[in-house]
Amino acid sequence: MRRFASVLLAAALTTSHVTAEDSLVAHQRDWGVMATTLDIAVYRPASEAALASVDLDAAYAEILAIDRAMSLYRADSELVAINSKDQGLPVSLSEPMFEVLSAAADFGAISGGDFDISIQPLVNAWGFYHVKRARMPESKLIDEARQRVGRLTWSLNANDRTVTLKPGTRFDLGGIAKGYAIDRAIALLRARQVPAALVNLGGNIAVLGQAPGGRPWVVGIEHPRKPKLMGQIRLWSGAVATSGDYDRYFEMKGQRYNHIIDPRTGWPVKGIYSLTVVAPNATTADALSTAAFVLGPKRGLDLIRQQESAGAVVVEPQTSELGEALVVTRTHDVKISKQFEITIYPDPKIQNQMMNAE
Ligand code: ADP
Ligand code: MG
Repeated sequence: MRRFASVLLAAALTTSHVTAEDSLVAHQRDWGVMATTLDIAVYRPASEAALASVDLDAAYAEILAIDRAMSLYRADSELVAINSKDQGLPVSLSEPMFEVLSAAADFGAISGGDFDISIQPLVNAWGFYHVKRARMPESKLIDEARQRVGRLTWSLNANDRTVTLKPGTRFDLGGIAKGYAIDRAIALLRARQVPAALVNLGGNIAVLGQAPGGRPWVVGIEHPRKPKLMGQIRLWSGAVATSGDYDRYFEMKGQRYNHIIDPRTGWPVKGIYSLTVVAPNATTADALSTAAFVLGPKRGLDLIRQQESAGAVVVEPQTSELGEALVVTRTHDVKISKQFEITIYPDPKIQNQMMNAE
């Protein structure tokens, strides 16, 4: 199992909250899934413990179902089946798979192709599917894999919900499926009329309602080089995801090679230590964090600035020692430092009113 990743939840999950106002308590459980830890907290009155238990079971089942469909590590997953049908013929998709591939195509387009789920041959060439075995491949292998990666290797047909893969094309949904899975879980909890909940899947976090006492949820941002938190994001709604170079990587001759790969060069991306995106939903936060990470400090942050409803906290190599990070939104570029606490409002209308005040 992977180290508990990227964003740690600082406060909200650690205690069972009981407040006079709403008498909601946290009903919480965790599991191992998608090679990481899933932590779900559902807030209901203490008298609704049985209902909360059903909520937790149902939310977990939803995430497990997405993993069963979208994992590369399960021989019977829908994704593995799709990857085996690379004969240039349309393959029918389940509804969730169609939704994820559509979103992936959108993020591929807005990133100019830097986010690309056809990255699998390159991730495989570098050995990142078993990170202990990751190593630098011969350049011939990188070149071969690169031929099989790119925007033109696959196409989606919305009319009949099919995807067509050119020979040799393989998908890897590692940059988006966790976000999608927790969006499904949040939708399910909302439909079950859960008043408040938090889902944390290896640092991909989405929330429903407000934290007890009508407060924002508090999400810690890990220091990308030290075992401590850099600061905290107060989250009123939506989702948070982090892409970083410190979670899955290997080192060779003092250089670090991480699991996020530039589809153009075929090499692991350098330039940012960590990039945390706040967005209205977890699919967007997950895919956008990976996309902006690949695009790098200039174009990646420009992509964030172009978003109507998203912002990012970025830790760059030059300033991480000082505990500094950069907050980037459509309207603001702000430097923050030393155990910061920041609120990023995914809704630009609110952001305009309140960003300066906090
Ligand atoms: P995490 O592994 O913590 O979920 P990310 O959400 O940033 O981090 O996703 C990284 C994963 O995305 C990689 O492990 C790989 O599966 C996949 N990936 C790597 N490079 C790309 C890329 N250029 N475009 C899309 N997905 C990628
Ligand atoms: Mg991601």
